Amino acid sequence: MKFKETISFIQNQFNSKEFIPLHQPIFVGNEKKYLMETIDTNFVSSVGAFVDRFEEMMTLITKTKKSVAVVNGTSGIQVALRLVGVNKGDEVITQALTFVATVNAIAYNGASPIFLDVDMDTMGLSPKAVMEFLEVFGELREDGCYNKKTNKKISACLPMHTFGFPVHMDELKAICDVWNIPIVEDAAESLGSEYKNKPTGSIGELGVFSFNGNKIVTSGGGGAIVTNNVQLGLKGKYLTTTAKVPHANEFFHDELGYNFRMPNLNASLACAQLENLNSFLSNKRELALEYKSFFDASCIQFRTETPDTKANYWLMCVELENLKERDVFLAETNASHVMTRPIWQLMYRLPMYTHCQRDEQLNAQFLEERIVNIPSSVRR
Ligand SMILES: *Cc1c(COP(=O)(O)O)cnc(C)c1O
Repeated sequence: MKFKETISFIQNQFNSKEFIPLHQPIFVGNEKKYLMETIDTNFVSSVGAFVDRFEEMMTLITKTKKSVAVVNGTSGIQVALRLVGVNKGDEVITQALTFVATVNAIAYNGASPIFLDVDMDTMGLSPKAVMEFLEVFGELREDGCYNKKTNKKISACLPMHTFGFPVHMDELKAICDVWNIPIVEDAAESLGSEYKNKPTGSIGELGVFSFNGNKIVTSGGGGAIVTNNVQLGLKGKYLTTTAKVPHANEFFHDELGYNFRMPNLNASLACAQLENLNSFLSNKRELALEYKSFFDASCIQFRTETPDTKANYWLMCVELENLKERDVFLAETNASHVMTRPIWQLMYRLPMYTHCQRDEQLNAQFLEERIVNIPSSVRR
């Protein structure tokens, strides 16, 4: 076996010869206590003290002014896009190297994605690619930026912080400001990551996090929208709670809202998990350092955070030399019960998105063939 040493290194790190998953949740804090409290008080559904507490914790952690608990990350992105003005028939700039939820959230608004390349170092949306695209296709009009090719409005830019590695936000923001395009951050994977000392998700108009079971902390299922724009935050709360006009006893809804509320039961789990976020972050950073020194001595490249950023090391990954090497690595590790997984297929390969406008995707295609996730769970 070619990767025997890597396999036994990972088995040693997790002190196990059994199946080692990519990422599993760990419950070592107040999870049971808060869940029982929720049941004992009968507030298990979409109103309750833990929903409020969760939203407060999220504003503190992300250093933002307003946070909205939602049922999952995907619906959070859907609503965040609507909040910045994405309408039916519009277009949204994003990356093709992402999880499908990023792009589905665009499509749920009746808008189409424009797929632009990622940077080689961050694996997230490339400011240079966005600039080059807009120089050719962008046209500034009174009400925003239009795509000269399709005559459609480009009403948002949706970068994704891949595996918790922050996108080059300053450069991206500078370009989007010139072209009057608001940024929504898909920060689903990057809770705890920082870009120049700012939490990811707090830099664009809005940011969205996921609390799905595979993320760094989980609420079973859930999401959060965060923003420094209080008006947008309040509008987000209202849209995700059926657009009900506040009133003591009357039901009046003045636009098409959603039931995207996070149940209190899930929020209680999220609160307990968030209390441990810092210890999870340092635990994962230790593992990343172990991996780094091991892989530095081999022919495999371990991916680390870029200068001026802090990654949460949610899912750690290596870069193999080529597709063939990658496939051998995947086969050997998984046969030894060490779970590894290739990065996503590029979104324009999916039947729903083949027709979408895109650039050359040289970096995305390079990474698609080489990046593999390796076990990254918090170790007890
Ligand atoms: C997990 C994830 C989401 C969506 O989160 P859900 O809570 O599962 O809906 C969105 N974007 C990315 C990049 C993700 O990894």
